Amino acid sequence: MKKIKQKLKKGDHVLIISGEDRGKKGKILSIDKTKNKIIVEGANLIKKHVRPRKQGEQGGIIEKEGTVHVSNLKLICPKCGEPTRIQKSALDNQKRVRVCNKCGEFID
Ligand SMILES: [Zn+2]
Repeated sequence: MKKIKQKLKKGDHVLIISGEDRGKKGKILSIDKTKNKIIVEGANLIKKHVRPRKQGEQGGIIEKEGTVHVSNLKLICPKCGEPTRIQKSALDNQKRVRVCNKCGEFID
């Protein structure tokens, strides 16, 4: 299996580029680095049936975010607001930073 480089971080805003939620934007809530699965706020909602646990409590259906594969996401640059590819670049002090392909600004 091809390994996908992890360039997205928790809290990033992303655009979903394929699947049912294509075109949706949201914030990354959590990342499973081993599986490249990402939970995006409001995306890939799964309906879950909840049974009432106590008497008098109401059961029902709640919606919960499902995971989205990292390859279906594109980062929205916080500087220019465009969905973009990220480049990695090394600063003089060897620190690696992410750079927006569209506007050239550092994202980190
Ligand atoms: Zn940008």
